[in-house]
Amino acid sequence: MAELTQPAVVLSTLDLTPHVRQLVLRPLQQKILFQPGQWVSLKLPVGDKPPLNRAYSMADPSSPYGELTLVFDRIPEGVGSSYLYRLKSGDEVPISGPYGNFVLPMPLDRELLFIARYTGLVPIRCLLKQLAEAHTSTPVLLIAVAPSEDELLFHQELLTLAVQSPSFRYLPLVIPGGEAEAIERTLAMLRPLVEGQPKVIPMISVTKGFVRPLRTGLMEFGYDRKEVKTETFD
Ligand SMILES: Cc1cc2nc3c(=O)[nH]c(=O)nc-3n(C[C@H](O)[C@H](O)[C@H](O)COP(=O)(O)OP(=O)(O)OC[C@H]3O[C@@H](n4cnc5c(N)ncnc54)[C@H](O)[C@@H]3O)c2cc1C
Repeated sequence: MAELTQPAVVLSTLDLTPHVRQLVLRPLQQKILFQPGQWVSLKLPVGDKPPLNRAYSMADPSSPYGELTLVFDRIPEGVGSSYLYRLKSGDEVPISGPYGNFVLPMPLDRELLFIARYTGLVPIRCLLKQLAEAHTSTPVLLIAVAPSEDELLFHQELLTLAVQSPSFRYLPLVIPGGEAEAIERTLAMLRPLVEGQPKVIPMISVTKGFVRPLRTGLMEFGYDRKEVKTETFD
């Protein structure tokens, strides 16, 4: 059955970094019940053939009131993200969902390895919150790549989590160069962490250009393709 498309009202907007914004929405007809790691589809009244469908992952787990926290960066000349940047409290946007299967695998019998570049961290942040709420003792390693220090998303929160939770390790990586450099340096960091080590559960999120070479790298380090869970934004 097709998911209901319904209006959602913008409750708040907040700039998290110079180029990343948070939008809190509340669906007006019925709650969207979702699992952390899933996403919703926004139908935007822009582009050559509106509506323009754009997917955004939830950054926070379900709330009792049904609000959805979305976090996105403004893509240069990006039609959808530029429109979202213009939304204000009280505006409405059609939404449907939830969709996707970038959810925690069960059982969690191995260490989790999350790798994200920039806003690829959004679904992973939701998964981290789920793990924290469940007080799970599963060890977690997060490698978060950002283009600059001030674009490290959720940085303070993740540092605090790393201090408070002995099972969580946070490795922020600032790589100002392009995608090729981000891939090369992330793989260089990854190699000693996984090669010859007990197997972990790898989950990687952002654009295909980053996710695919990282998955290939993990396969060279001994992982089966199916063992690497991915979410791609394009
Ligand atoms: C399952 C899923 C979940 C997503 N979750 C999020 C999210 O939580 N936060 C978020 O910011 N975006 C998310 N996206 C991406 C989002 O749907 C849009 O594609 C993005 O905002 C760009 O749309 P646009 O219309 O502004 O750009 P467009 O006009 O469509 O231009 C996109 C161009 O920018 C490139 N590009 C560079 N960086 C990105 C990027 N991060 N995402 C997509 N394309 C990129 C693409 O390769 C493409 O060439 C998700 C996408 C999918 C499929």
